[in-house]
Formats: sequence, structure tokens, C-alpha cells
Amino acid sequence: MYTRKKGTNLLDVQEMNRSLLIKLLRSNNVWTRAGLAKATGLKRATISNIINDFLDWGLVNEIGILYGEKNRRSIGISLRSDKYRVIGVRLSRNFFSIGLFDLAGVEYSYKVEKIDALAGPDIALKKIKKEITNLVEKNRQQKKIIGIGIAIPGPYFRNEGRIVLMTEFPGWDKISIKNELKKAFDIPVYFEHDANAAAIAEWWYGTHSRESGTLIFIFITEGVGSGIVIDGNLYRGNLGIAGEIGHTTVKADGPKCECGNNGCLEHYCSTIALVREVKNGLINYPQSILNKDYSVNSIFSAFNSEDKLADKVIKEFLKFLGYGIVNVVNSFNPDLVIIGGEIIQAGPKLLEILKSSVKEHLLPEIYNNTILEFSSLKSDEVVLGASLIAINKVLQNLSLLKEHLNI
Ligand SMILES: [Zn+2]
Repeated sequence: MYTRKKGTNLLDVQEMNRSLLIKLLRSNNVWTRAGLAKATGLKRATISNIINDFLDWGLVNEIGILYGEKNRRSIGISLRSDKYRVIGVRLSRNFFSIGLFDLAGVEYSYKVEKIDALAGPDIALKKIKKEITNLVEKNRQQKKIIGIGIAIPGPYFRNEGRIVLMTEFPGWDKISIKNELKKAFDIPVYFEHDANAAAIAEWWYGTHSRESGTLIFIFITEGVGSGIVIDGNLYRGNLGIAGEIGHTTVKADGPKCECGNNGCLEHYCSTIALVREVKNGLINYPQSILNKDYSVNSIFSAFNSEDKLADKVIKEFLKFLGYGIVNVVNSFNPDLVIIGGEIIQAGPKLLEILKSSVKEHLLPEIYNNTILEFSSLKSDEVVLGASLIAINKVLQNLSLLKEHLNI
């Protein structure tokens, strides 16, 4: 059944114009009213009205005099990014992280807390709520916090707010994380799949930050997923699970996955798979330095010290990851593929092998026109991304901001 989107009314147009200006103000430091009119195609009067509202709400500053065409003087306008704060939260299998950011993505606080997702959602959600409440209360007087963004591991049915595969999250499929956390706060809360959040962080703040194009962020930790950003917007698909490459087939006769498919990429490409394969391989490699310790970090350093077992396991891992990347590149023809998550701690040697595995299976014209790199973001890209999701949502719905500020 198809549902029609409601018609665009005048308020929607106003909201759209406002978010268009916010987008421009975020992408460049200083604008003039004339420059904004030129860049958006909107009338000068419309721009002036919106900027006056933004000045009232403390969203922009007027700064100095700029000299434009024919030496005309005009007042500079810039986004007051430090006026407001948003909270970003990342839920993972054995920890959650929480950060406080301003509208320009500057981090003011960051904390990681252990949880045990296997023990069910109750205790973990209680801990998360407590940490968020602490931050909200600390900033309540200044009315600074305008939104909360929460990144959830997948497969995540975004529309329902539910994680769907239960092995690592028993009991979590029975609840809507979205409803649980939304009702706990009087500040708008937004939810996103973790790889999508990281993809947005990369789009805004990565080395190849851009205005247009297609970026695919491959996120490899204890699972593997991806986030797809097309011209600045996340591509989510029907149920919100687009980019779930962990459940695409890379070996047709591979083992059955709990998703119903066979030989899923996630079976071969996750830190869990790495540890499992090293453990299974130890019997044939008694000399391996991994005999004593086969944690993920030890596997990476063994790989970089030419340990034969680590080398074999990681090369097999990269062969399958290469298949997964080739599938996604042929499906979306991105100009940028960024690899993030724990896996990049293995360093440049891993990237070089991955590149040759991808190159081998792609048309040269495609390979040569696709950048494949590790994420350049130094901090927790998922938490940063979660905060950006909240910032974008609030700024796109400025009526929410008005309500929050009682103006
Ligand atoms: Zn699967």
C-alpha cells in the first residue's frame, strides 16, 4: 500500500528555506545576506526575515563588515555554533559512549561506560538514561541542550526503533529502544543506525568532506554494516535497514545465518570472526605468537609482525571484505568508500591488501575512480555522528527549537 506524503504548505516552505540557510551557514564560515540570496535563489526580503529570526534565537551572529562586488559593504553573518549543545550516544554490545557537542561538532565531554547487552535491555537502558539525565541537568539552567542523538547497532528497524537479530542482544528485539528513551526526556531524541551515524560524521568532518557525491562508510567492529550518504542525505530504504551489507552473501554454500541467508559477509568479516578463526587455526600453527593471547589487538600486531597465522586469517578476512565492498561499489557507484571501526587499528598494511583484493574484482575504470580509505576521524565517529543526526533534525525543524526556548 502506498501512502501519500502530505502536501507542502506555507509553514513547510518556511521550514525548508530556514534549513537551506542553516546548511549554507554550517558549510562556510561567514556569509552576507546578498551572498545567501544568490546561493539559494531566494528573495532578499525572505533572507532578511529568516536571518532576523535566527538573530532573535541566538543562532547567528553579525560579525564585522565585508566588502563584496563593486566594493559594496555588507554585514557578515555566521552561525553561533557554541550557543547550543547536543548529546550523542552510541550503544554497542559491551559498552555505550556519550558525548556533548556544539553545533559545529566540537566535543565538550566524552565518556565510555561498560554494559552487558547479553544481560538484556533493562540495566543497560537504565545506565544510559542516568548518564543522559546527568548531562541534561548540568545544562538545564542555560537551556543549552536542544537534542539527543542515539546510534544503535543493526540490523536496526529504524521505523520501529527495534534491533532485530537477537543473538548478541537477547530480549532487545522485544522492546522499542526508541519509545523507551523518547519518553524519558523532555528534549527531542533521534535515533539512527550506528554505521549511518558514522557515515554522516565522515561526510561532515572527514578528510573528504563534501557537498555532493556518494559516500559509503563500511563499519567493521563485532559486526559489519555500512552507511550510504548520497548528496548529504542518508539512504535508508523501506524499513530503514539499507546498507546492511553484513547480511549479503559472499559464499553461497557458507553457513546458515540467523537472518535466513547463507554465507553472510558478517560471518567472515567482524572482529568476532577474526578471533574465532585464529582460535581454530592455532592447532596448525603451534609457533604462532597468538598461542598466548588472541585478542583483537594482539591479532593486529601479530599481523604486522609477519606472524603466519595472523597473516593467513587476516588475508582470508580481507578476501571476503573485498567481495562485500565490490558488491556495494557495483550497486551504488560511490566516489568514496571509507572503512571505519576497530578494524582500522590494524594499520596501513591491512588497507593495502584490502585495496588489491577490491582492485582484482572491479573494472579498472570503476576502481580508479573510487577512493578507498580508512576513516580520518580521530574521535569516536559514531558518537559524533549521533550528535550530528540530532543537530540536523533540530535545525530542520526549527519550530522544535522555538518550543524548547519558549519563544
Ligand atoms: Zn545474515
